Amino acid sequence: MNKRTILAQAGARRDPRTGAISMPIHPSAAFRHSALGQSTGFDYSRTSNPTRQVLEETVAELEGGARACAFASGLAALDAAMSFFSGGDRIVATEDLYGGTFRLLERFGRARGLDFIYLDTSDGAAVLGALDQPGVRGLFVESPSNPLLKVADLKTLGAAARARGLLFVVDNTFLTPVLCRPMEYGADIVVYSATKYLGGHNDLIAGLAVAASPELGERLAFVQNAVGAILGPFESWLLLRSLKTLDLRLARHGENALAVARFLQGHKAVSNLRYPGLESDPGHRILSEQTDGFGAMISFEVESRAKAERVLSGVKVFMFAESLGAAESLVTFPVFQTHADMDEGLRTRLGITDRLLRLSIGLEDKDDLIADLEAALG
Ligand SMILES: *Cc1c(COP(=O)(O)O)cnc(C)c1O
Repeated sequence: MNKRTILAQAGARRDPRTGAISMPIHPSAAFRHSALGQSTGFDYSRTSNPTRQVLEETVAELEGGARACAFASGLAALDAAMSFFSGGDRIVATEDLYGGTFRLLERFGRARGLDFIYLDTSDGAAVLGALDQPGVRGLFVESPSNPLLKVADLKTLGAAARARGLLFVVDNTFLTPVLCRPMEYGADIVVYSATKYLGGHNDLIAGLAVAASPELGERLAFVQNAVGAILGPFESWLLLRSLKTLDLRLARHGENALAVARFLQGHKAVSNLRYPGLESDPGHRILSEQTDGFGAMISFEVESRAKAERVLSGVKVFMFAESLGAAESLVTFPVFQTHADMDEGLRTRLGITDRLLRLSIGLEDKDDLIADLEAALG
């Protein structure tokens, strides 16, 4: 079935008893058995819940994976993916990761005995070299990366991971399964912060992890039940509802982002503009070949920290806030917000400076967004 049809009918036809078109919310913690050995398939909602299960099945179908698990947040989903590794394993990872992911790997991954080799995963040759280092068991890629929007060649990396028998994990939060399906390029696990585009309304914290094979899916579900960082039934329903408009929303997000990026491209106060939808961007060619769109995240530098602060306080349509992927356009100051936990030396080397701003382009009228930036940039 086409993904637009899967999305539009997310949760529909799933309650034969009543015919409800909107999937009912089942808050029940436990489920009654009529006799020993007789179960509806549900026992206890940490293990499985009817509303959450419909969300998980819808996402697995959308992604083309064997099984999806819904978690309380994107970081809980990432933590579940990391639990596939054990002490002594080394994992090659994108260096400019989402700050919270970086903190998870450094503070908890290392405590579990994992070792991480961070590098620019848009540099294919560097990644291939690192994969051959002793002890490497996995490859973890965020693409486009955050906040520098560097694009990884998933096809080349997936083939290299497969040839070496490595677990390939992709954080596809910025593109969603509507624009990019990493499993087509060999990803074993795809992870989302569903708080972002999948939720899309700034009213929900949620995460998803999707496994390519039934074996990996079973392990993921084991971790979900054993650790218990599950998504509740109300949030599961809200996310199902959000999915219905995902395709439409992404089309508008992308159209607006391209218009804003083109405006910024010609602005004298803007430097180091990154938006892979621009033909001049280093990530443009790979995304053109491997995805159905470029997303709606933009980053750029201004001349000074003072200027960046003036933009943050000067905007009237954009809001200065720390998230992305929803209807409302947001501007973020990564060095003090999303990436505050990253070591300063590493931040400077990566180019996450106190002059770098990140935009999440929302669903407003594009001319209003451009006029707002024009006024704030001065
Ligand atoms: C926000 C985000 C996360 C973390 O997700 P939460 O839902 O906030 O826990 C992980 N990866 C990326 C790319 C993100 O943007």
